[in-house]
Amino acid sequence: MPGALHVRGVVLPDDEVRDLWLDGDRITTTPVADATTVADRGFILPGLVDAHCHIGIARGGAPIGSLAQARQLATVDRDAGVLAIRDAGSPYPYPELDDDPDVPRLARAGRHVAPPRRYLRDIGVEVAAPDVAATVAEQARAGNGWVKLVGDWIERDAGDLAPAWDAATMAAAVDAAHAADARIAVHTFSESAVEIMVRAGVDSVEHGTGLSVDLVDEMARRGTALVPTMINIATFGDIAARAREKFPGYAKHMLALRDGFPTVVRAAYEAGVPIYVGTDAGGGIDHGLAAREMLLLHEKAGMSTVDVLRAASWGARDWLGFPGLVEGGLADLVVYDTDPRADLRVVQAPKRIILRGRVVA
Ligand SMILES: [Zn+2]
Repeated sequence: MPGALHVRGVVLPDDEVRDLWLDGDRITTTPVADATTVADRGFILPGLVDAHCHIGIARGGAPIGSLAQARQLATVDRDAGVLAIRDAGSPYPYPELDDDPDVPRLARAGRHVAPPRRYLRDIGVEVAAPDVAATVAEQARAGNGWVKLVGDWIERDAGDLAPAWDAATMAAAVDAAHAADARIAVHTFSESAVEIMVRAGVDSVEHGTGLSVDLVDEMARRGTALVPTMINIATFGDIAARAREKFPGYAKHMLALRDGFPTVVRAAYEAGVPIYVGTDAGGGIDHGLAAREMLLLHEKAGMSTVDVLRAASWGARDWLGFPGLVEGGLADLVVYDTDPRADLRVVQAPKRIILRGRVVA
């Protein structure tokens, strides 16, 4: 076991200058003898979280082929200060990495549960309506607390987005996840699917471009989370350009969803919906972009700097069950030179990163 560490600085969110000791993988405020001081000023936050990330999907969209590849992708996020990941669906199982000292904390879904022949190739378990609930239960066991459902995708015959299954099947999926003691995250782009899923009691809406003002109020009332993945939504222009010739209605719809999105996120924020930072890294989006997503939430969706920090740090950790900088909390933290509440851009350059009580940078 490495020796104990000591840090001193302004600890957020409490906003107090404090000394913390990292004794193995635990935080304590009781001094530990012979600890090495690794930061003596600056602003200290609980380690960042990427709440929508895929370390099982390689660049380009194919499933990864080895544990080493998942570890490598996760370390790109780690080196940007992301010390916990919610993996929103992986075609490659990697439960061995849950306690890997080099890998961020993992809240994992199993494979995406998706409709037949409509989702990204080779990524999801593709099932027809009668098998959805049983598959959700099975994938709950493959993950460690989360299930990922694909709530909509293009329906080629209709030439537009459409819900993955009928509303009763999608509601049964939510119940099946909860019966298996898992939370359920749902991918939705369209207006129709997100309405079904919010009213069915899903735990988190991923992307959520189809949200309306009525629905964000309903989410706030229920405490349903939103992970907007602004970086992903910015790629809708490319998706539309590729689809335009064959599916002009779909292409137009995607552009309208993209253009209306910052307003949707702002409405959700103002309604009090819990919002978390997720990049959707994996496939078409690079790892290590959590800071960029944070800046987008501030600049495009109007979230205050402190609320963005909550969405990326202590709030997200509480949501996922990874305790922060409290007595007995997990020894994951990032240190910045200057106050990220005053200028959020500082999150692009952490001065110190400590994961599981060990110095990463
Ligand atoms: Zn995703």
